[in-house]
Amino acid sequence: MRIRFLGAAGTVTGSRFLVSGTSTQFLVDCGMFQGSRAIRRRNWDAFPVPATDIAAVVLTHAHLDHCGYLPALVKQGFSGPIYCTPNTGSLVPIILRDSAHLQEEDTAYARRAGYSRHADPQPLYTSQDAETAIGLLLPRDFGQAFAVTDEFACRFDPAGHILGSSTVSVTETGPSPEHARVVFSGDLGRGNHPLLKGPHPPLDADAVVMEGTYGDRDHADVDAEMEEMAEAITRTINQGGTVVVPAFAVDRTEVLLTALRDLMDQHRIPVVPIYADSPMALAALSVYRDAINNADPEITTATIAEGISQIHLPGLHEAHSTEESKKLDTPGPKIIISASGMASGGRVTHHLKYFLPHPNNCVLLVGYQAMGTPGQQLRDGARSVRIHGQDVPVNAQVVDIEAFSVHADRSELIDWIGSARPRPAAVYIVHAEQDSASALASQLEDTLGIPTTIADDDMTVDVTAGVTG
Ligand SMILES: [Zn+2]
Ligand SMILES: [Zn+2]
Repeated sequence: MRIRFLGAAGTVTGSRFLVSGTSTQFLVDCGMFQGSRAIRRRNWDAFPVPATDIAAVVLTHAHLDHCGYLPALVKQGFSGPIYCTPNTGSLVPIILRDSAHLQEEDTAYARRAGYSRHADPQPLYTSQDAETAIGLLLPRDFGQAFAVTDEFACRFDPAGHILGSSTVSVTETGPSPEHARVVFSGDLGRGNHPLLKGPHPPLDADAVVMEGTYGDRDHADVDAEMEEMAEAITRTINQGGTVVVPAFAVDRTEVLLTALRDLMDQHRIPVVPIYADSPMALAALSVYRDAINNADPEITTATIAEGISQIHLPGLHEAHSTEESKKLDTPGPKIIISASGMASGGRVTHHLKYFLPHPNNCVLLVGYQAMGTPGQQLRDGARSVRIHGQDVPVNAQVVDIEAFSVHADRSELIDWIGSARPRPAAVYIVHAEQDSASALASQLEDTLGIPTTIADDDMTVDVTAGVTG
């Protein structure tokens, strides 16, 4: 089989891998590029292959950088099935509707405020395109192979990253006696997720395409980071300030709520109102609640035993409408959790504009911050950030907490590929900035002796059973 890397090669976003045989081709993931303006601009390029020639899409999980381009592909004529796990099938509609809505909103705002470079800014896709893509979703259970085209079958196995997340095994099914198999890691979880079971090892793979987001570092000690977070929240609340947390709406909000509940139970932070300010986060929260209530096989036994009180807080308020969201922009002790996680768009940008200039407030960064995003500038100590074409002074305290990462770190990535049986003949690293990818590649070659290649943008490789070149 042939793999062409159409995104997440040399960068962390825009996961799209084209798998082709002699007569059919399909995509593993169909993600959006996020981050700096230069990277985001790639969303506007014509898709490198005619969308009508793609037979199907197989999704690893519901994050925007893996599914967010689907409506754009549909807009260009794609009409095949989009295979995903059942929980991914519940989360993708939430993500795509929100993404389309955000783009429509941001376009309208840019038009009104006149800060776009374009005379007549247009969204990448509309809510209608998102609905058409949602209509193509076709859930398949974990652990069961299903035919994708005449030449290929796929199987989902748990990846432990977010609810529904999976690795994808792609196997040739043609008439030749030798069938090559490639495992795509998707995004890998950590094995210590408070709600989800850990990732499944890659089995019988000739080659593995694996993520390397944190390939150059290990996550900091969780207890120390929780302490740092508790101190920052307590200090802010005691001086009458507001804590703003830009958070990926799916999963991060759930993990964060679990942690805040623990800190409040242990009296390590004051009990203050917490606002979940993202309609997407609230919708995702109910998918997690259902999974816990239904004792979904992805959920840990301990979580099922404890029930949804794990992610339910007495002081939790939900801001559904834009009006409710705007009302939060007043001084006073509270915690606001709002998307997007890299502060590159969405409601959190309005909160940051309001809260960043005042030193009593605090911004907690809890997720990956891609190069060129306001989140990355805040993390790196910028004195001002540009939001909606305006320079906003940064006087609030900024605290970076990595404890909430739902990505495997260097050791966990090495453990995962080390658990492969048998050893794959080749590994291709994707979904990583250059430094992380190089660090991980040399580790894999040195410690495990696996020939490792950092995927280049638009690179093509052929994988044959037993031999990879
Ligand atoms: Zn992800
Ligand atoms: Zn990702």
